[in-house]
Amino acid sequence: MRLFWHRRDLRVADNRGLAAAAADGDTVVPVFVFDDDVLAHGADPRVRFMLDALAALREAYRERGSDLVVARGDPAAELPRLADEHDADAVFWNEDYSGLARERDARVRMALDDAGVARETRHDAVHHEPGTITTNQGDPYAVYTYFWKKWRDRDKHDPFDAPAADALVDVTGDDLPTIAELGFADPEADVQEAGTAAARERLATFCEDAIYRYDEDRDFPAKHATSRLSTDLKWGTIGVREVYEATATAKAEADADGDDDAVEAVEEFQSQLAWREFYTQVLWANPEVVSRNYKEYERPIEWRDDDEAMADLQAWKDGETGYPIVDAGMRQLKEEAYMHNRVRMIVASFLTKDLLLDWRHGYEHFKEHLADHDTANDNGGWQWAASTGTDAQPYFRIFNPMTQGERYDPDAEYVTEYVPELASVSPDNVHSWHELSVGRRRQLAPQYPDPIVDHSEMRERALSMFKRARGEE
Ligand code: FAD
Repeated sequence: MRLFWHRRDLRVADNRGLAAAAADGDTVVPVFVFDDDVLAHGADPRVRFMLDALAALREAYRERGSDLVVARGDPAAELPRLADEHDADAVFWNEDYSGLARERDARVRMALDDAGVARETRHDAVHHEPGTITTNQGDPYAVYTYFWKKWRDRDKHDPFDAPAADALVDVTGDDLPTIAELGFADPEADVQEAGTAAARERLATFCEDAIYRYDEDRDFPAKHATSRLSTDLKWGTIGVREVYEATATAKAEADADGDDDAVEAVEEFQSQLAWREFYTQVLWANPEVVSRNYKEYERPIEWRDDDEAMADLQAWKDGETGYPIVDAGMRQLKEEAYMHNRVRMIVASFLTKDLLLDWRHGYEHFKEHLADHDTANDNGGWQWAASTGTDAQPYFRIFNPMTQGERYDPDAEYVTEYVPELASVSPDNVHSWHELSVGRRRQLAPQYPDPIVDHSEMRERALSMFKRARGEE
């Protein structure tokens, strides 16, 4: 008998470690441990999604005549105890790559060794595990394009089957704790439906049509043209092989139709899946980037940190900066525990280059509100925007929030969806809000704030802040 320890792989299908545990005619008891050290990094929307995903997982096991065994505490104590209780001689799990997860797993391995219980792990959350796509010198990649080319050209594994019912032990499962019992509250945000069925539906809907226009439409938040699979990929409610297989089928169909544009669009989507694995290997090779700049400048960057700066931070968090596209993004985050990628880039640039605030403030706020918060991707995204990361935006490339809004939300549909105060303002006036006189602004949208900073002035300050850090001023 074996235990399978679920972590960020809350599904039965296309689960490599689970498939391995159920191979060779052995039987499996599925377990999940609520780990307080991990929960300390949790947030209401993510804990809600996780609990719902666990309920769906438990149901999937019940349909197969088994159940989910649930424990709470330190996995290094709970897993040997559960192995003893169920008479299991081995524990299987899938690897996780953050520093925190790796430290915990090292402790679990030692505890199981001490208890005389075997353990085996598999790489499941990515197609190509960290350390296997490297430069010719064997180093992890810090430039995405080269990583992508190798990632694209490597063979991909087919999805793994869910274990057959007779490979699962007919155990009596445990009730899941309530969100309050875990120390969290039901989120104010409307979090996506969790579970493999919901994830599969999102994938199927995306692959019907939107995938073929992904490269053209993905930057326009009002078009809702992306897959919305990030939370599923974060929690593993769907497997990466299953997602890739659907894209490969879509690509083959476009190819058969001779539609080169559609083939390119699918490849563009696959390259986003590769970004996720790129940042996973960055974090795996540099666990310290979670709180430190990947790229250090000659001198420390003099981020603003006085009272006025903290008031600006609050306005950014509240979606009250007076820059419509920024405020729409920040409000989408609070309402849906999600934000569109283009807008994440805009709000992150605004925080670091217009407000001159340390990216860590933004990272912490995203961590508190995103259902899809993933240490590797969130950190990668923030350090990219702050010009401190791998393959980052050069420090002198500073997004202009007005032109970004004009270009990617020309009819101000996205802005007005989340900023109702601007509903009756024309798109032209929305995108030139900063240029209107105070009187005109009051007349058009009396409730919506004036810009808290002047973009042109802050752009100059940002450039000199980075030049000082580079030792050039
Ligand atoms: P799609 O466009 O459909 O992309 C498909 C999948 O590819 C995504 O689900 C995601 O897993 C992956 N992906 C797409 N873009 C990226 C990217 N730039 N980097 C890494 N993976 C990517 N993504 C997260 O999953 N978690 C985060 O915490 C996170 N924080 C971010 C913070 C900032 C400042 C920025 C700029 C980006 C962040 N991203 C994060 C990346 C990206 O914004 C989201 O993955 C994407 O918006 C999710 O929507 P989707 O599933 O519809 O994406």
